[in-house]
Amino acid sequence: MFDKILIANRGEIALRVIRAAREMGIATVAVHSTADADAMHVRMADESVCIGPASGSQSYLHIPAIIAACEVTGAQAIHPGYGFLSENANFVQIVEDHDLTFIGPSAAHIRMMGDKITAKETAEKLGIPVVPGSAGGVPDIETARKVAAEMGYPVIIKATAGGGGRGMKVAEAEAKLEHAFRTARSEAKAAFGNDEVYMEKYLQKPRHIEVQVFGDGKGGGVHLGERDCSLQRRHQKVFEEAPGPAISPEERARIGGICADAIAEMGYAGAGTIEFLYEDGEFYFIEMNTRLQVEHPVTEGIFGVDLVREQIRVAEGLGLSFTQDDLQINGHAIEIRINAEKLPNFSPSPGKITQYHAPGGLGVRMDSALYDGYSIPPYYDSLIGKLIVHGRDRPEALARLARALGELVIDGIETTIPLFHALLGEEDILTGNYDIHWLEHWLAENMS
Ligand code: ADP
Repeated sequence: MFDKILIANRGEIALRVIRAAREMGIATVAVHSTADADAMHVRMADESVCIGPASGSQSYLHIPAIIAACEVTGAQAIHPGYGFLSENANFVQIVEDHDLTFIGPSAAHIRMMGDKITAKETAEKLGIPVVPGSAGGVPDIETARKVAAEMGYPVIIKATAGGGGRGMKVAEAEAKLEHAFRTARSEAKAAFGNDEVYMEKYLQKPRHIEVQVFGDGKGGGVHLGERDCSLQRRHQKVFEEAPGPAISPEERARIGGICADAIAEMGYAGAGTIEFLYEDGEFYFIEMNTRLQVEHPVTEGIFGVDLVREQIRVAEGLGLSFTQDDLQINGHAIEIRINAEKLPNFSPSPGKITQYHAPGGLGVRMDSALYDGYSIPPYYDSLIGKLIVHGRDRPEALARLARALGELVIDGIETTIPLFHALLGEEDILTGNYDIHWLEHWLAENMS
C-alpha cells in the first residue's frame, strides 16, 4: 500500500487525484512551476515541491526534476493525470528504474497505443472493428492516390504520432489530395517531429463514442459503458455525456464486451479509453488513450465509482473494487468544459479571477482549481473548469445543467460559458441529435 504519492500535473486534475488519495488515507505531494506557486493544487496537497520555471518543458515535463521530487519527499508512486507525461512510455520506464510505481499502464502498453498505426493493427488483432484505411504508413503521394482510389473519397490523412486533434487533413476529392497530403505531413513534422502519416476513409456523419475500460492488473478486464463526445471544435471535445443518447443497451453490451475482452487479452492494467467513430450502427476504432480522460466524471456519475481510486488500487496490486456484474447504469451525466477563452474566436483569455462562485445542489459537481483572486497563468492549457451534472434521466440532467450554469460565476476573464447557455437552447442538443460536425456548423452560423 502507498503512504504517499506525487501528482505530476496541475489544475483541476491534480485536485481530482489529491481528493481520491486523501479519501484513501494516502498523503500527497504536489509539484509546481514558479508560475504556479499560488495554485490550488499546491495549497491542497500535503507537501509541494517547485520543479522549475513556468514553461511546461522545464517543469511539468521535466523528468529529472519530478523523479528528484519523489526522492526528496519519499513519495512511492506517481499519478500523471492527463496530458503532460501521462502517455510518455520513456517516463514510465524511468519511474520504474527508480523503484517507483507509475499509476497507469506499462510502458509497453503505452507504446503500443501511442503510435496510431501500431494501435490500429493491435486493435484489429484483438477483434476490435477499425476504420477502413491504409495498411500502415503512406510514404508518398502515389501511394496516397492508390489507397484513396481503392477506399473512395473523402479520405482523411492523419499523423501517425498525432494527438490532441492536430495533424489531420481531409481530402474531398482527388484534386485536393496532394495538397492535403503535403500539409498533413509538414504539420505532423512541425507538431510531433515525425512526418509519417496514414489514411482512413473519412466518415461523413459519425458520432464520437468512446468506451471506458479498466484492466485489473490480474488478467481481467471490465468496461464502464460509453461516453458520447461528438460535440467538438477543431477535433477537441467541449461537451460529453454518458450514456450515449444514440447507443442501445444491446450495442453497449456488444462493443463493451469486445473492449473488455481485448483489455483482458492484452493484460492491460489500469484505466483506458477505446475511442470509436459510430455511424449507421457500426463502430470503427480510431485510437486508444492509455490514461484517465478529462471527461471521466460522466462515467463516475452514472456508475457511482471513483475511477482515480481504482487506478491507485490497481497500481497497488489490489485489483478493482467491483466486477462487471456490479456495474449498473444509474441515470444520465453531462460534462461541459469551461475554457479561459474569448468568444467568438476562442482566443486565450488568461488573467485574474475577481469573483468565483461554483454551483452546487443535488447532482452537481464542479471540478476546478479556481478561487477568488487567482491569476490564471498564460502558459498552460485553457481548461479552467468542468461542470458535471447527474440526473435520473437525460432531460433531468439537461435541466440541472441549465440551472447550475445559471449559478456559476467566473468574473475577471472571458470564458466559454456563454457558448453553453446558447447550446442549451438548441433543439438538437435537447434531443441528442448531433454528430461530430454539428458544433462546427453551428459555430459557423451563430458565432462568426
Ligand atoms: P487525436 O488523437 O488527435 O484526438 P483521433 O484519431 O482521436 O485524433 O481523432 C480525433 C477526432 O477527429 C475524432 O473524434 C473525429 O472527430 C475526427 N476524425 C478522426 N478520424 C476520422 C475519420 N476517419 N473520419 C471522420 N472524422 C475523423
